Amino acid sequence: MTETLRIVPLGGLGEVGKNMMSIEYGRNILVVDAGIMFPESDMLGIDFILPDWGYLRDKSEHIRAIVITHGHEDHIGGLSHFLREFNVPAYATRLTRGLMEVKLKQARLLDRTSLHTYAPGDVINVGPFTIEPYHVCHSIPDAVGLGITTPAGLIVHSGDFKFDHTPVDGWPTDYAKLAEFSGRGVEVLLSDSTYADRPGTTASEAVLNDAFDQVMRQAPGRVIVATFASLISRIQQVVDVAAQRGRKIAITGRTMAENTKMARKLGYLDVPEGVLVTLDEIKRLPARETVIMATGTQGEPTAVLSRLAVGRHRSLRIHEGDTVVLSSHTIPGNEELIHRVINRLFQKGADVYYDPLAPVHVSGHASQEEQKLLINLLRPRCFVPIHGELRHLQQHGKTAQEMGIPAENIAVVENGYVLTVGERLEIGERVPGGYVFVDGTRVGEIGPAVMRERDALGQNGFVMSIVRYKRRTGQPVGRPRIITRGFIFVPGAEDLLTRAEEVTLSAASAKPKTPPAEIEKQVQGALSKFLYRETKSRPIVIPVVVEA
Ligand SMILES: [Zn+2]
Ligand SMILES: [Zn+2]
Repeated sequence: MTETLRIVPLGGLGEVGKNMMSIEYGRNILVVDAGIMFPESDMLGIDFILPDWGYLRDKSEHIRAIVITHGHEDHIGGLSHFLREFNVPAYATRLTRGLMEVKLKQARLLDRTSLHTYAPGDVINVGPFTIEPYHVCHSIPDAVGLGITTPAGLIVHSGDFKFDHTPVDGWPTDYAKLAEFSGRGVEVLLSDSTYADRPGTTASEAVLNDAFDQVMRQAPGRVIVATFASLISRIQQVVDVAAQRGRKIAITGRTMAENTKMARKLGYLDVPEGVLVTLDEIKRLPARETVIMATGTQGEPTAVLSRLAVGRHRSLRIHEGDTVVLSSHTIPGNEELIHRVINRLFQKGADVYYDPLAPVHVSGHASQEEQKLLINLLRPRCFVPIHGELRHLQQHGKTAQEMGIPAENIAVVENGYVLTVGERLEIGERVPGGYVFVDGTRVGEIGPAVMRERDALGQNGFVMSIVRYKRRTGQPVGRPRIITRGFIFVPGAEDLLTRAEEVTLSAASAKPKTPPAEIEKQVQGALSKFLYRETKSRPIVIPVVVEA
């Protein structure tokens, strides 16, 4: 590494989720955010996905700090994994830190990590970087963007942001600070692209109050509001409206309950005395005086809403007269799951409100006009669209070009491309920037090969063929046993299975002293070919050859 300024996106560019960025000057690294992403419906058995930070592994002693923009999962969800591997100081605002502590405690890491609180307006020096967090509006309080001054110039990282003039907490994005950055001259702007394909301006959070008020006024019974566990601003709005309408609230779901507790403790959630009650208490109140908040707006099978939809919640049942509000957007790829949950809720007699059918959700991300406003306020020399799928990044790049930033100073790249900021903005080599799958406690052991196998198992099932043989003669003994799951309905397929036995027998006869592994290979090859020829499907074939 020479004394140049480099920007290496490790997550969140080319996808929505698992945001992470490495900003480097000489041999000094500053990491921004460490998020997770939730799996798509075809990623079987995967709990969540971490950024691939393998690139940092041999540079750990150069990492000066990790700075966090806000408390959403796609920014802090991977933090405990990251800090377990790199024990570096972490900086966050008060609420974000509180939410991080919940995670670090669960991971038993809280005692051995060095957490620091910063606030908008602070100036923090780490290595050659001077970090200035500034307040931004988003769907969670205490979110910041970052001014990062390096010897090679000022970088502005927008975090996730919108320009809301009437935010829930009454604290708009810090225009003055942005103007001040502009006055100093901005070398590079890294800006949130999530909503880059939406023209106009994102609606203010204030519009939701009317929608919630209408729902709670008209609902004949309980109101169940589902949203993301970390959407603290949304929880505040539901609390406000419920209190006005004389309804009590219970919160279900462990993460949402813990986040609420932490946000209240730190003063970011204002709940009037007596409004928040337990689930047991709520069941004893008249239905029309109650609100239940839950998670599960993406159709996640283990979340509260899905369990309610299929009637598998341990203490709650959906019935006639319930009103369910899904206050969230649909993450692309989850549509099918969500629609299934909504249909089942209707089946059980509930009335369901969801976006875009009813105005029960607004985004926390800037639309095109707000993205233009940020570019105009900062007038950066170079521009890198971040946080979004490639189509969002492309569109944001186009917007920047329309605003007068020359094309050669705009880098539209996906994760892993090393950007060097010099005279020009150079796009260099590509380092890893893919997926690290987390399945239960296993991190990174599940690779693409295993995912393909799970996919094949899910689609075509498996066929296991067990055969005994004598090593001395190399010949099979007795009949093989064929076991199938998810491949074919066995009654009616006896003929096919008998022929599969024959195929196994002839593939299992080999020269004297042939090792079992060799015979397994032969059986697998022959059986796969046979099954494909007969059924045009490719089940996973598992040969088991045992010595008699
Ligand atoms: Zn966010
Ligand atoms: Zn985000």
